[in-house]
Amino acid sequence: MAANAKLSDVFTHIDAERENFLRRLIDYVRHPSISAHNIGIKEVAGLLIEMLGRLGFETHLVPTKGHPMVVGRWLKAEGAPTVLLYGHYDVQPPDPLDLWISPPFEPTIRDGRLFARGVADNKGQHLAQILAIESLLKIHGRLPCNVILLLEGEEEIGSPHIADFVREHRDLLKADLAVTADGPMHPSGRPTMKLGSRGVISFEMRVRHANRDVHSGNFGGVVPNPLWTLVHLLGTMKNDRGEITIDGFNDAVLAPTSEELEAADRLPLDLDEVKRSLGLSRLDAPLERDYYERLCFRPTLTINGLHGGYGGPGSKTVLPHEAVAKCDVRLVAAQDTADILQKIKAHVNKHAPEVSVVSEGTGMQPSKTPITSKHMAPIRRAFVAAQGVEPLVYPAGFGSLPGYAFTDILGINAFVTPYGNHDEANHAPNENLKIDCFFNGIRTGAALLDELGRAG
Ligand SMILES: [Zn+2]
Repeated sequence: MAANAKLSDVFTHIDAERENFLRRLIDYVRHPSISAHNIGIKEVAGLLIEMLGRLGFETHLVPTKGHPMVVGRWLKAEGAPTVLLYGHYDVQPPDPLDLWISPPFEPTIRDGRLFARGVADNKGQHLAQILAIESLLKIHGRLPCNVILLLEGEEEIGSPHIADFVREHRDLLKADLAVTADGPMHPSGRPTMKLGSRGVISFEMRVRHANRDVHSGNFGGVVPNPLWTLVHLLGTMKNDRGEITIDGFNDAVLAPTSEELEAADRLPLDLDEVKRSLGLSRLDAPLERDYYERLCFRPTLTINGLHGGYGGPGSKTVLPHEAVAKCDVRLVAAQDTADILQKIKAHVNKHAPEVSVVSEGTGMQPSKTPITSKHMAPIRRAFVAAQGVEPLVYPAGFGSLPGYAFTDILGINAFVTPYGNHDEANHAPNENLKIDCFFNGIRTGAALLDELGRAG
């Protein structure tokens, strides 16, 4: 371990507080905070304000059109950089309840893991950051760099207000970089850092021809079939070589740099194991494209479901009158959700004007931080100091997080440094956090602030 003397005192303190810190995690996740159902949000936001106030942070509970943002600031490290630590205090609904081995809001330890809704996504991960701050303050009386904690209450419902909030509170959030501890690490347990995320937008394509379902013999060949209309339309949107053929769809896609491609190439991959575990005989087209290149640098168009007509047992010779295709697009830098949705609408209007495109919400923009960022080195060193191993560097995360609020609105570099185990079962029954991951997270959080302060 490369930990310096100042940091090793903090690590010793974290070890000594093991029982206390674990108890506090248990207390924290016992409180439900389900944004989708507006359960417990106010209470948990209040708990956080109290927790940060006790650490000497200046606290702000900022209302939005939805659930409030919790902001805590400690800005007494003159001349040192300011890091914005982002997390979210809301959790997914726990359903289906009968698949939980222990109840979702009665935290239970089994096999070195704590099981509870929200323990990994994201309460355990941002509590680790907070306990790291507490430990640094306890041992050294001050923090090595300035810290702004931003905890959102609507991440699990798509962060609908974070962009407006960040735009309206730039002064409150003035920082040099943003770091988010969320999501799982690599399955090998190697720590992981991600330099951005793909965006997402969901939409439906709906079509209705007749005013009711009809007999496929009496009317077949006369009444148009909405499912065929959608199938033909979908066929114009992506070809069998895996290319998305919506007009202009790929125009804004940034080609990866050679450094980004090399980083993607260094990520461990056991393709046979991936195929075996998923029961696949092949990957999606185009076959020659590298695995991580697909996930980091390429947008997708996914048909989530195609619905209409009869799906029950046996046959039913019906000609349905309406159909719907539910789809999503994962966007990469520098695609824009509004622009892509507009292009989809224009494409549909050209190829199948009877079909309407409906999209609720605004989706989430992609985000990207350059792999040449000067903050890379201190973050890597923090992982080495805290966990004794170099992190894997993902040029982009595959899923969607609101990092664009930092990269595109605040104009700062944003990093995702997950502390969760790869099998954390986030969004699923029996969500869990390995207790060792929690403590590695606290150590890493402390080392991160130490290294950022040192880097100046
Ligand atoms: Zn989540």
